[in-house]
Amino acid sequence: MSLLRVLLCFFSLLAWAQPPNPAAPAKLKVWLDPGHGGEDRGARGPKGLSEKEAALAIAQDLRDKLRAAGFEAVLGREDDRFIPVWDRAKKANEAGADLFLSLHLNAARAKGARGSEVYFLSLGQGDADAQAVAALENAGAERTPEGDSLVAGILDDLAQKAFLQDSERLAVAVLTQLNRLGGIRQRGVKQAPFAVLRSAAMPAVLVESAFISNPKEETKLRDQDFRKRIADAITRGIQRFVADGFRPVKRKAVEGKP
Ligand SMILES: [Zn+2]
Repeated sequence: MSLLRVLLCFFSLLAWAQPPNPAAPAKLKVWLDPGHGGEDRGARGPKGLSEKEAALAIAQDLRDKLRAAGFEAVLGREDDRFIPVWDRAKKANEAGADLFLSLHLNAARAKGARGSEVYFLSLGQGDADAQAVAALENAGAERTPEGDSLVAGILDDLAQKAFLQDSERLAVAVLTQLNRLGGIRQRGVKQAPFAVLRSAAMPAVLVESAFISNPKEETKLRDQDFRKRIADAITRGIQRFVADGFRPVKRKAVEGKP
């Protein structure tokens, strides 16, 4: 065998040994924002599960799945503490995160409402249903412990405006996978004026994984196997979004302002 053939053989073996299409080659940093916390309990299920607990549990499972899939994953809160809504994206910006996911559970007056919804920021008010969801999510964090107003806190920072197209693509990719979970009905990607997304300088979505107000979904949310399936689905959605050509903006983590 000529040297050339040996070399060709060697390099084709090398190429064969590479994993096909690795979804996260550059260790993208995914910021996971577990909704609510501390005095802000979020919604409450009919059997007493609070949204802040369920959102943190999902975020922890999702962090583990993302790390196993080759991403860097960071939790915005690791325990039961209050974080003002405008501080959440700010921390992700300062850490130079590439993607921002705020994790919540939905609540509706109709006990039978079920399934997942994924939102990206609307610059306007959105439709009436979306407005109602945003009003609920924004309400819990309207005041800081110091009494600052929400509006003063976010200072109309609209960093998210430049990322809306990617945010929509991320929302579609994540919801497509969540809809494949057994028994979850298609509810669609929606836009609403969520305060937590406004100042995120990266693709950002808010995921309502299930309805905590639905007794059946509340029971499932207490089961780690179900939460792990949600985490799996969201991870696959992020992988698909990245594989479809997402290119993060190259920037250094900015220093936190005093
Ligand atoms: Zn919430």
